[in-house]
Amino acid sequence: MSKDVVSSRISSQDHINLVDKHSAHNYHPLPIVVARAEGIWVYDVEGKRYLDMLAAYSALNFGHCNPRLVKVAREQLGVVTLASRAFQSDQLGLFCRDLARLCHMDRVLPMNSGAEGVETAIKTARKWGYQKKGVPDGKAKIICCAGNFHGRTTTIISFSDDPSARADYGPFTPGFDLIPYGDLEALRAAIDDNTVAFLVEPIQGEGGIIIPPSGFLTKARELCRSKNVLFIADEIQSGLGRTGKTFTCEHEGVQPDIYILGKALGGGLVAVSAVVSSDEILGVFKPGEHGSTFGGNPLACRIGREVIAMLEAGDIQKSAEELGGYLLVELQKANFKCVREIRGRGLWIGIEIRPEFGPARPYCEKLMVDGVLCKETHVQTIRLAPPLTITRDEIDWALERLRRALG
Ligand SMILES: *Cc1c(COP(=O)(O)O)cnc(C)c1O
Repeated sequence: MSKDVVSSRISSQDHINLVDKHSAHNYHPLPIVVARAEGIWVYDVEGKRYLDMLAAYSALNFGHCNPRLVKVAREQLGVVTLASRAFQSDQLGLFCRDLARLCHMDRVLPMNSGAEGVETAIKTARKWGYQKKGVPDGKAKIICCAGNFHGRTTTIISFSDDPSARADYGPFTPGFDLIPYGDLEALRAAIDDNTVAFLVEPIQGEGGIIIPPSGFLTKARELCRSKNVLFIADEIQSGLGRTGKTFTCEHEGVQPDIYILGKALGGGLVAVSAVVSSDEILGVFKPGEHGSTFGGNPLACRIGREVIAMLEAGDIQKSAEELGGYLLVELQKANFKCVREIRGRGLWIGIEIRPEFGPARPYCEKLMVDGVLCKETHVQTIRLAPPLTITRDEIDWALERLRRALG
C-alpha cells in the first residue's frame, strides 16, 4: 500500500472540512477524497476502491498514472522541464510535428488549459478575418451554438447561454452569435460578410452528450467552405479517442480548418492544449502577438508526444468503439423506468433521468457508495466517460452497479 502515512492520519471527512473552510466554493464535488489512483481505479483516504467512470472529464483517456506516460515524464523531469519560448527546446519541434501529423494539419500553437486553446482559436480566427478575408476592423463575428461549453474565461462565457456560468461576470465580449445546436438553416442565416468562424463541439459534452443530427457536421463544414468561414472544431473533450475515432469529426469525414485540443493531450499528467491548423491560418501570427509562459514546455511536449504515439497505434480508439457500443446497448436494453434517454458514441454516454424521478445527482451518490464514480451534468444527465483502457470485465462490473442504481 501507499507510504502516504501523514495524510492517512487525516480522515476523508477532515479533508472535506478543510476544503469547505479554505477553498472557494466554485464546485460541488461528490464526497469522495481521492488519495491514490491507478489505471481505471481510484482509492480514497480510507483505502476504498472506486471505478472512475468520469476520467476527469476525458482528461484521463489513458487511465490514471499510465505507466508509459509516467515513465517518459519521470525521464523528462530530470532533464529539462521549462525553457520558455524565449529559447528553443529539443522537444517543441518534435511535438508540433507529431501533433500536426495526427491532425493532418501543418502547424501547432501550444497552450496549457483548454480555455486558453479556445481563446487562441478565437484570436486566430479574428486575425485571419482581418488579414485574409478583409473584414473591416473591429467587425469580426464568430458563430457558436446554444448549449455550448468552451471554458470559463470572460470572453468564452460571453457566448455561453448557461446563466450560472455568466451571472455577475459582465460586461461581456461582443462579436459572437448563437444558433441552435445542429441547425444548418440557422447557421446559413447567421453567416454574413463579417463572419470569420463557426465554433462548434462535434458532440456537446458538458451539454449532456448531445449528438447533432447525422450529416450536420458535413453540411456545416461545406457551408463554411463556400462562405469563406473557418470551421473550428473544439475537440477538447470529444477528441483523442473518446468516441471511437481519434477525432469525432472523422465520423462524418470532416476535416476542420482548426482543431482545438486539450484535456487528454496531457495524458492526465499535465495541462496541455493546442490549436492545430494550416500554414495559411496559423501563419497570421508574428513574433510578440500571442504567447504563453508554459505553453509548449519540454515536459508537456514530451508527454504529449507519447500520447500522440499511443493514439497513432489506434488500439484505444478501437476499444472505445467496441466497448462503448457494448455498454450503450446493455444500458438501453435495461429499459430503466427513471430514464428518459440514453445516448452516446464510443465510451461517452449520457443517461438522462426523467424529471419526475428527480435530478441525476442522487443516482451519482448512490453509485459512489457502490464503488462507481460519475457525475451529473446539467442537472438531469449522468455522464459516463471511463478511461479508454477499461476492459470488458470491468465494464460488466460497472454495469451490475449501474443496473442496481437505476433499476
Ligand atoms: C473542458 C473543455 C474546455 C475547457 O478546458 P479547460 O482545460 O477546463 O480550460 C473547452 N471546451 C470543451 C469542449 C471542454 O470540454
